[in-house]
Amino acid sequence: MPNSATPTHCPYCALQCGMNLTPQQDGGVAVVERPDFPVNRGALCGKGRTAPAVLASSVRLTSPLVRSGGALVPATWDEALDRVAEGLGRTRAEHGPDACGVFGGGGLTNEKAYSLGKFARIVLGTSQIDYNGRFCMSSAAAAGMKAFGLDRGLPFPLEDIPRTGCVILVGSNLAETMPPSLRFFNELKENGGTLVVVDPRRTRTAEQADLHLAPRPGTDLALALGLLHLVVAEGRVDEEYVAERTAGWEDARAAAMAHWPEYVERITGVPVPQLREAVRLFCEPEHAMVLTARGPEQQSKGTDTVGAWINLCLATGRAGRPLSGYGCLTGQGNGQGGREHGQKADQLPGYRKLDDPAARRHVAEVWGVDPDSLPGPGRSAYELLDALGTDIRSLLLMGSNPVVSAPRAAHIEERIKSLDFLAVCDVVLSETAELADVVLPVTQWAEETGTTTNLEGRVLLRRRAITPPPGVRSDLEVMHELAARLGGERGLEKGFPTDAEEVFAELRRASAGGPADYSGITYRRLAEENGVFWPCPAATGTADDTAGDCEDASLDAEPDDPAQDHDTVAAPHPGTPRLFLDRFATPDGRARFAPVSHRAAAEEPDAEYPVLLTTGRVVAQYQSGAQTRRVDELNAAAPGPFVELHPRLAARLGAAEGDPVAVVSRRGRAVAPARITTGIRPDTVFMPFHWPGEGRANTLTNPALDPTSRMPEFKTCAVRVEPVQS
Ligand code: SF4
Repeated sequence: MPNSATPTHCPYCALQCGMNLTPQQDGGVAVVERPDFPVNRGALCGKGRTAPAVLASSVRLTSPLVRSGGALVPATWDEALDRVAEGLGRTRAEHGPDACGVFGGGGLTNEKAYSLGKFARIVLGTSQIDYNGRFCMSSAAAAGMKAFGLDRGLPFPLEDIPRTGCVILVGSNLAETMPPSLRFFNELKENGGTLVVVDPRRTRTAEQADLHLAPRPGTDLALALGLLHLVVAEGRVDEEYVAERTAGWEDARAAAMAHWPEYVERITGVPVPQLREAVRLFCEPEHAMVLTARGPEQQSKGTDTVGAWINLCLATGRAGRPLSGYGCLTGQGNGQGGREHGQKADQLPGYRKLDDPAARRHVAEVWGVDPDSLPGPGRSAYELLDALGTDIRSLLLMGSNPVVSAPRAAHIEERIKSLDFLAVCDVVLSETAELADVVLPVTQWAEETGTTTNLEGRVLLRRRAITPPPGVRSDLEVMHELAARLGGERGLEKGFPTDAEEVFAELRRASAGGPADYSGITYRRLAEENGVFWPCPAATGTADDTAGDCEDASLDAEPDDPAQDHDTVAAPHPGTPRLFLDRFATPDGRARFAPVSHRAAAEEPDAEYPVLLTTGRVVAQYQSGAQTRRVDELNAAAPGPFVELHPRLAARLGAAEGDPVAVVSRRGRAVAPARITTGIRPDTVFMPFHWPGEGRANTLTNPALDPTSRMPEFKTCAVRVEPVQS
């Protein structure tokens, strides 16, 4: 193992901050600043700083567990793997391959996500695979595909933000979700630019805005339409750009003109003067951006909502121009890469469509199988979880904790309990792992090498810095062993290498020529160049892999790389930090306006449930909290859930700060202490979703799905709030 600092990346959010890990006497590692990585320049939030605590946690799993007599008891790896193969194999034999489900995660490395999709489709032969990233940014991905013909979270690097003129940040509390990114916005303001924040709450991010718009939850679509109406009415449309680079403007324009500012004020609660000010701030500078996050995306009309914000960018000539455009701030550590390599229900590696015959042929050739043997598209994440115990009898789950993170979580918990068989790969006994028949303890970020793709589309190398504890194995080893057991005489395990670089070499071939083309990216380049932006095709006749050595990994090209057969050595493709500057990725090169109109949320307040609930995150916890709730320092900072409510609502309930209050929706009841603040609308309450049990916010949330992205409506549902008698 290396005995000096190992440069790598944080295991948590999509910023993928760079950090150095230095070995300690006790065999662990300490986090040290890594100023050479341009995204965070050494800065880390508390989660990243304390990430090694999970490596050494006393609750870390170091032995497989199997259910025996109702309890999970330690077992050998062979016993545990045999049980998993037997459970999945029996389901497949008795009910058919589609009765086996696979559920992945946006935190899995590219190599794991790729292998998991291949495992589901080749080894199990099931179409029933999806992942928790469906719960994060799938609406933005769908809207980006529709508008631009390609979805990459940010089509420009973060370093462009300080040099633009105005950013409208919609539904993102990045001061808490990814604090080091704030410096880009601080620099924007230092350079004379402005920040407009759209959020129902006065978050830490909104406090830093030049203008804060606080719409009712679920009305971001109307808000964007109202802004576009004003753009048209005030003569701010970039007619030349619209004529040359877009299609569909007339329908979008007509829809926007039906959304008068006063009408939009009635829907959203945002006063007309604020709408006008937002338009002025956005339109006056030469450059401007709209960045969305989960707020507008996690809605049953999330795709249309993001489409409306993209419309605003298109009408004003922002998208596909330097220092301007639309971008999505992805959430999970590999939220971007996780949706590119085949663990989505409708996708093959390289961001190819599973129902595209040419894509099937290409990937099947790389996998050495008949294209007709590949299953078709399966169910989306919530629909898959909802089918557990009925159509889907067994589940293999990797890198996710849906008992806490899924909408309508109590129902999903019951569905999981009704399975014939559940296997979970995790590092700790998460709330979902507690329900498993077999738990397989796996390696973590600092104990394994692999790649992730951050919110900018920058592919990064995470390096192994320490030896994993005895008793754990990598997810790649798990898939290899299961392929051996389930593949019988077919020798399928040969298609599941346990070395991440070998998997990446195959991923490159599978992605070649696809929208997310990684074929020109090698581990060596990632190490030498601090990451490479996709698309990065391997140029014909080049030897992209032959330059230089890298001392901490073999990092060589795979021996059968076709690029090695050529004598001609051309310069490798540099990667693509900025997309769409010449043309969009549509057949005619034009971006598409979305013809969208306002519509209500799936659940609006009524007499029985008169208040809106919105959910989100806090700075000291990450996602379902499976890792961060095991870190003392983070728990001290954020020990449990709370209900944020306005003083007027608190007064009606007779609730004081810290009093327990119950939030009740059509799906269940959650109880947590009141946190009273004027920073939230009087008609809305907020709960963070990181905790299980009585205060589980997702007990309440509505699984109403966006018709295109199949994203559940986490961000708004109708509730009532009640005092709790102690
Ligand atoms: Fe890690 Fe995200 Fe915090 Fe950076 S901002 S240290 S990537 S959790």
